[in-house]
Amino acid sequence: MSERKRTGVVVVGSINMDMVAHGMRLPAPGETLVGQQFVMAPGGKGANQAVAAARLGAQVAFVARVGTREHGPALLRALADEGIACEGVVRDGQALPGIAVIMVASEGGENAIVYVPGSNAELSPDDVAASKDALQTAAVVVAQLEVPVPAIAEAFALARATGATTVLNAAPALKVPEALLGLSDWLVLNETEAAQLSGLAGAREAAQALLQRGPRTVVVTLGAEGVLLADAGGRLEHLPAQAVQAVDTVGAGDTFVGGLATGLAEGRSAAEALRLGQAAAAIAVSRSGVQSAMPRRAELGAAFAPRA
Ligand code: ADP
Repeated sequence: MSERKRTGVVVVGSINMDMVAHGMRLPAPGETLVGQQFVMAPGGKGANQAVAAARLGAQVAFVARVGTREHGPALLRALADEGIACEGVVRDGQALPGIAVIMVASEGGENAIVYVPGSNAELSPDDVAASKDALQTAAVVVAQLEVPVPAIAEAFALARATGATTVLNAAPALKVPEALLGLSDWLVLNETEAAQLSGLAGAREAAQALLQRGPRTVVVTLGAEGVLLADAGGRLEHLPAQAVQAVDTVGAGDTFVGGLATGLAEGRSAAEALRLGQAAAAIAVSRSGVQSAMPRRAELGAAFAPRA
């Protein structure tokens, strides 16, 4: 293992622009509807988790591929504004960045989304390998499933070589190759994703089955019910969520993972790091928006004061 002290969080993942149009209802096929509001905001699970961790005080570097046509420059500026290191973000002059076109019905809150991955789908193992130093000096390396698996596997293999902790957030619900599960120290996923990946309905059963496939810790998030923690040492524990008035739960999982990674990078125990993630997510769901709802560390109170 390297003698250098490992610090901070590297997030390997997606970034896109969310373009959200609010109408009274969703349009029928072929219909044009006059809407009330339009909001454009940076998103993508990777960028969301990087922002969550940066707001909570982690030193964060992002590894991604961003098309610089259209909204690309705005996405890069938004990362820089959060203090996120972007040396590992490959700029692709030919590609469009990822875009999510989202329609939301004001009455009932139903939505319909078309997501075009753009440059996210082009992130390659070579792109990731260019960030070898950052990956090998990080305390924690986090990835989700919105970029190609070979890129994630390259990042985790490099990280593991120096003893960094790898966290796979297996979202959205997709197949995960066994080799990638074997490179993941932590596997974090919601109930739907856990059921899909394990083929088992109950969170406990799913967590225990997934532990057999490589990770030493599995966390199943249960929305307002909190999280289930299962580890290779036989621990199986339910940690309840903080009771809050939920306003908008979109992005809860991303805030949670960003908080968990921050806690682990600070050297906290598994339970403490999970509580940090839960406290941050509880605040985020009590406000509307995704990145705009993510709290700064001071909002979590003295119990979660940063550690040097
Ligand atoms: P995802 O957004 O990936 O579906 P969840 O909905 O399970 O993930 O939420 C992730 C975490 O966020 C939960 O484990 C919990 O700690 C927190 N959370 C989500 N919804 C609420 C809520 N209504 N009240 C309090 N905490 C919540």
